[in-house]
Amino acid sequence: MKIAVLAVQGAFAEHRRKLEALGAECVELRKRTDLQEAFDGLVLPGGESTVQGKLLKELGMFDDLKMRIADGLPVLATCAGLILLAEQISNDEHTYFGTLPVTVKRNAYGRQLGSFRAESTFKGIGKIPMTFIRAPYIERVGAGAEVLAEMDGKIVAVRYGRQLGLSFHPELEADNQVHELFLELCRADCSDDRRTTLKNA
Ligand code: GLN
Repeated sequence: MKIAVLAVQGAFAEHRRKLEALGAECVELRKRTDLQEAFDGLVLPGGESTVQGKLLKELGMFDDLKMRIADGLPVLATCAGLILLAEQISNDEHTYFGTLPVTVKRNAYGRQLGSFRAESTFKGIGKIPMTFIRAPYIERVGAGAEVLAEMDGKIVAVRYGRQLGLSFHPELEADNQVHELFLELCRADCSDDRRTTLKNA
């Protein structure tokens, strides 16, 4: 099982550590030629979505990744990653991959509640700790997207096909269950023989 972790900016090392601890192999995506390796899933980490979106385009990785995600590549997207996937951002004119039918609000918890930790229920797992850092939340969920978690009445995790979008940072917790769920999704996908490579990257 090989997982690609977008590593142009942000909290990618934490995801890598966790995935490797769970037995997955990781490849860091830093430049276009990194896309030549076969991988079974993709992690879009937290960080700054505007910077990540810009770098993805400048580095020539944006279109290829968008095509693969739309084509069913399993994705775990946290915080800025969720913003990159969202079809719409209510307080920003930009959109990026737009493959996840949700509207998100960036920096939605305001300055005072910029960063906090809490517990809430994640569908199929149960109660888990959640760390929010200048996090978005999900204001609208489109057809086919399933709500996986809410916090204080706000949607903070969704699934749409093989895309998991989370407002919070499971890579910062001792708990492994969200990453385990993602790897299960990748394993199921892998056995469907949908592993993708980019021939002319
Ligand atoms: N506030 C960041 C953004 O808008 C996301 C924060 C994070 O990923 N922890 O991109």
